[in-house]
Amino acid sequence: MPTHLVWLRNDLRLSDNPALAAACRSGERIVALYIHETDDDMRAPGAAARWWLHHGLKALAGSLADIGVPLRVETGPARAVMDEVLRETGAEALHWNRRYAPADRRRDAEIKSALRDKDVTVTSYPGNVLVEPWDIETGQGKPYSVFTPFWKSLKEQHIDQPLARPSRRGDKIKAPAIDTGYEQPHWADKLVPYWTVGEASAQERLDIFLDQQVAGYPRDRDFPGVDATSRLSPHLRFGEISARQIWHATRAHAHAHPDKAAAIEKFLSELAWRDFSHHQLYHRHDIRQVPMQRKFQDLSWRKAPEQLRAWQMGRTGIPIIDAGMRELWETGYMHNRVRMLVASFLSKNLLIDWRLGEQWFWDCLVDADEANNPASWQWVAGCGLDAAPYFRIFNPVTQGERFDPNGTYVRRWVPEIAALPDKHIHDPSSAEADRLREAGVVPGETYPRAMVDLKATRARALEAFGALPSPG
Ligand SMILES: Cc1cc2nc3c(=O)[nH]c(=O)nc-3n(C[C@H](O)[C@H](O)[C@H](O)COP(=O)(O)OP(=O)(O)OC[C@H]3O[C@@H](n4cnc5c(N)ncnc54)[C@H](O)[C@@H]3O)c2cc1C
Repeated sequence: MPTHLVWLRNDLRLSDNPALAAACRSGERIVALYIHETDDDMRAPGAAARWWLHHGLKALAGSLADIGVPLRVETGPARAVMDEVLRETGAEALHWNRRYAPADRRRDAEIKSALRDKDVTVTSYPGNVLVEPWDIETGQGKPYSVFTPFWKSLKEQHIDQPLARPSRRGDKIKAPAIDTGYEQPHWADKLVPYWTVGEASAQERLDIFLDQQVAGYPRDRDFPGVDATSRLSPHLRFGEISARQIWHATRAHAHAHPDKAAAIEKFLSELAWRDFSHHQLYHRHDIRQVPMQRKFQDLSWRKAPEQLRAWQMGRTGIPIIDAGMRELWETGYMHNRVRMLVASFLSKNLLIDWRLGEQWFWDCLVDADEANNPASWQWVAGCGLDAAPYFRIFNPVTQGERFDPNGTYVRRWVPEIAALPDKHIHDPSSAEADRLREAGVVPGETYPRAMVDLKATRARALEAFGALPSPG
């Protein structure tokens, strides 16, 4: 019987999966394939993302088995694996959903043309974005470089309704025992309480968010001590839910609950930042390495491995920075406001290359994303598109006082200073000796002294960034 192969990549779901839906419509036998690609130009997933992928593939194998589709998981260079699987299955058609990183596109294009020469029908479908990067452009026919007009234009676009989950393709089969290719290190156990991986959980997260949280999203989303955001990012990263599904479910919710419409508009604009990052990934060269504003190539970053290590380990002596870095290490996630603060602290106060921070996030985040991560790092470092101007340097103490006023977040992740009163929780050095003693804090022993002077390092950053040539 003719076989159709579905190559799954960043789309580990059954519903709204255009490639899988098309294969199902064919009425032929279907085999699903996931490849751990080992090609040299492939950015291998970091450790936390591998943990997610391991569980995501297992969940997916079970759901596909329910509709009678076996999942194969293979490891190797994509082209060689594909040739082998096609030979073994005799598949005559191959379907995939598109991806947008330059190296991925290059590889996909090569495979497409090689297989067409072998009379295998290869069809690609829109990937996990609201609008494909080439379908949205400025009035001058150029890619957008500023978010607000991008968002205005995106809202005017037609965004396809999500596709239904395919119905059963025959008998339910036993889920194959798949080797996900990843050993599960014991440190990964700590991630387990925080996440439920898989498509069903992504849908459930969205429902809970819409019912219980979205109304307060614009007000609370900047407060890391409040559980106010959707936490859909890792599900989106692996395509366990599509951006289109979120868009349409959310708009339908606004229709049914007009009192939430303004809050939902704010949430959708944040979702649109994800498309904006993909727009940059598609149109720019290697955004993980090359500053989008070229003048930043000339900046002399400091080489300070010990300071980098203290930042990574959450031992800087600046409570909100340490809280964020420890949240990341423990849970594979960090609140968005705190991501901005730790990135600003590294790239500006410490004047350490943002690419080193991006790589650390890449290894530690369960939502580490080829578009969002470098684009956001560049945005904070000041070298990205529509970036915060370089002279806007966050003060982590005053930001902490503003966005974590009762110290809920800091106390959770930096318990050794939890007994300090609210007014000193973001700046232990402001507390008198008696207060510190009462709280059991011994500066430099139980908790590090601030590793840098914020005022002096701010001035140093202003000087370094200010010395770059102005654009023009
Ligand atoms: C330095 C830095 C690095 C980042 N790295 C990543 C990353 O690797 N992967 C990632 O998905 N996001 C990244 N972000 C963006 C943002 O922090 C996360 O998307 C967000 O915190 C995820 O939580 P949530 O799902 O609860 O977000 P919500 O506020 O509920 O937003 C819903 C979705 O919209 C998208 N989104 C929201 N804010 C942004 C944003 N500023 N930029 C792009 N997309 C956004 C995400 O897909 C998110 O899941 C980074 C931000 C910074 C400042």
